[in-house]
Amino acid sequence: MSVLVVAEHLREQVRPVTLELVSAAKELGGETAVAVIAKDPASIADQVDVEGVAEIVSVKVDQDEFENDVYREVVEQLISDRSPDVVLVGFTVNSMGYAPALAAKLGLGFASDVFSIDAQASGLVVERAFYGSKVHAEVEFPDKKQVLLMIRPTAWPPAEGDGAAVEAELDVTISGSRARHKDFQEVATSDVDITTADFLLSVGRGVGEKENLAQFEGLADKMGATLSVSRPLVDQGWMPNSRQVGQSGKTVKPKVYLALGISGAVQHLAGMKTSGTIIAVNTDPEAAIFNVAHYGAVADLFEVAEELEKLY
Ligand SMILES: Cc1cc2nc3c(=O)[nH]c(=O)nc-3n(C[C@H](O)[C@H](O)[C@H](O)COP(=O)(O)OP(=O)(O)OC[C@H]3O[C@@H](n4cnc5c(N)ncnc54)[C@H](O)[C@@H]3O)c2cc1C
Repeated sequence: MSVLVVAEHLREQVRPVTLELVSAAKELGGETAVAVIAKDPASIADQVDVEGVAEIVSVKVDQDEFENDVYREVVEQLISDRSPDVVLVGFTVNSMGYAPALAAKLGLGFASDVFSIDAQASGLVVERAFYGSKVHAEVEFPDKKQVLLMIRPTAWPPAEGDGAAVEAELDVTISGSRARHKDFQEVATSDVDITTADFLLSVGRGVGEKENLAQFEGLADKMGATLSVSRPLVDQGWMPNSRQVGQSGKTVKPKVYLALGISGAVQHLAGMKTSGTIIAVNTDPEAAIFNVAHYGAVADLFEVAEELEKLY
């Protein structure tokens, strides 16, 4: 089986999802090629030369930044040139802009938000989520035709180790781009990156009032944790959205996720349920967060915080 991974990068840095796609490709077996589409592919190619990558295909384009039409045309030409059995892209904002349209145009088998793959002799079977992970479904591609899969970020660990990929180039012709990337702006409030934290102390509406947040900021500092929140705290302007976990926030996978006063709505769970160890504190024994928690306490979060303060 031949697999083509489309690398995602930003400002000459490969995005973590790219290396996760390589891990997913390894599970499929066979040859994996990674396509690097960039103005200067060489600067990114080194970063994707990890164990399991057989070939890196550099595609030079004029654009510094991602543009939907450019990727759509390049990936179409890559597919026509190399005829991969499976194309893997991230289930990310970038890929959503072109991958489903391309799959439709070429008549490829298609599934998005894929979090598990099973390459059976009879054909490929993947598991995917719908409605913010409320529903999971198995999708089967029995006739082994070309398939394009959008892989959920964090569902696979990033591939590591030194690679020995051979280098190749593909010349492409781009007919035009109907949407132009004009500018790049850093999000000013992004004081921390909760997606890389090992230990998240996450608070929800159970915290009651904005004034109470300072106590949990202090507690997180003491415990060596990073503070994250559920959406209502962002909606009320209490915390910047860079701290929001969930479907419309960040997907996180810390070693420890300590949830205080979070009910466990599907949109929140979609962003944190693959965390290493989930500990939940909630006064409501029926709270949905307990369905995904490894450890749970039906308790008042302020009392728990007080006890934790004593320990640190
Ligand atoms: C399209 C869409 C996207 C969304 N995206 C996100 C998202 O990205 N992230 C997100 O978080 N939400 C998101 N939501 C909102 C989501 O549906 C929930 O409304 C939200 O997650 C609830 O946040 P919460 O658990 O903090 O609040 P609540 O649901 O109000 O829960 C508060 C919890 O605190 C408990 N509690 C109260 N007092 C205490 C106490 N003293 N001690 C202990 N426990 C206490 C309560 O029992 C309750 O379970 C989205 C919704 C939509 C429609």
